[in-house]
Amino acid sequence: MAEIQTFSYHTHTNFSDGSCSLREMVRQAKKIGFTEMGVSDHLIVHKNMKKDDCWEYLKNMEISYVYNDDFKGVLDLFKRHCEEIRKVSKEENFKLYTGFEVDYFPYDGWEEEFKWFIAQLDVDYLHTGNHFFCDESFEHTINMSFFKKICTDKGLYREYMSRHFKTLQKAVESKLFTFLAHIDYVRSLGKEIYDEADFGAEKKQIIAALEKTGTALELSTKGLRKVGDFYGGGEILREAAEKNIAVIISDDAHRCEELGAGFEIAEDELKKYGISKRLKF
Ligand SMILES: [Zn+2]
Ligand SMILES: [Zn+2]
Repeated sequence: MAEIQTFSYHTHTNFSDGSCSLREMVRQAKKIGFTEMGVSDHLIVHKNMKKDDCWEYLKNMEISYVYNDDFKGVLDLFKRHCEEIRKVSKEENFKLYTGFEVDYFPYDGWEEEFKWFIAQLDVDYLHTGNHFFCDESFEHTINMSFFKKICTDKGLYREYMSRHFKTLQKAVESKLFTFLAHIDYVRSLGKEIYDEADFGAEKKQIIAALEKTGTALELSTKGLRKVGDFYGGGEILREAAEKNIAVIISDDAHRCEELGAGFEIAEDELKKYGISKRLKF
């Protein structure tokens, strides 16, 4: 039997929008035979988060605290979380890496502030994962889940989508991230907004950026749960194999039971496309 990856570096606890505590996640990881785990709760800070139309929706969500507009204001909170990861790792005698899933916003000043923020924290790695669209100045955001409600002009869909892929490319080119999560997460928005066949060139450019920067690509089994297929699978893997890009399987677990979910079929998918290079710390 082929070997199956025994760790995940893309997991969420109730520090962000996960439903289990860090300790519960660790105990489950041990139970299923994981050898180590990366904890990568959301890090989402955009200066206009609470000024844009989207906030009307976000503020009413149970997890509204995940969305922030000021790096300084959340520094202590994130510091404590990083300390908690080290502490639980020791107490549970289980290797944990401290990471974050970062929404990358390319407006002037964001990257400087972000780098300042990260320098204050005891962090092992970062991966991207964008869940927002931006306007052309990147100064304003729309959370993907509410995009249809806010962007009523369908004529703008393609423009938003193209800019989204450009943003992912910029995120990779920033060299801040170990891997790019759910490259085609937008599949979850449906065909009207994202027609897969339509963005081949944009995705190719992202994959070229992965190659150039040595950033790894994620094959996400969350897609299996959300859209019945992988995020980052199929043609994307074919390109990645051609360019010998390292791949990591992720569960993007938001609940204990989701740890390691779908890893067996993910291994088959990697084999099918001849992926030989894998990311492991
Ligand atoms: Zn994500
Ligand atoms: Zn995630």
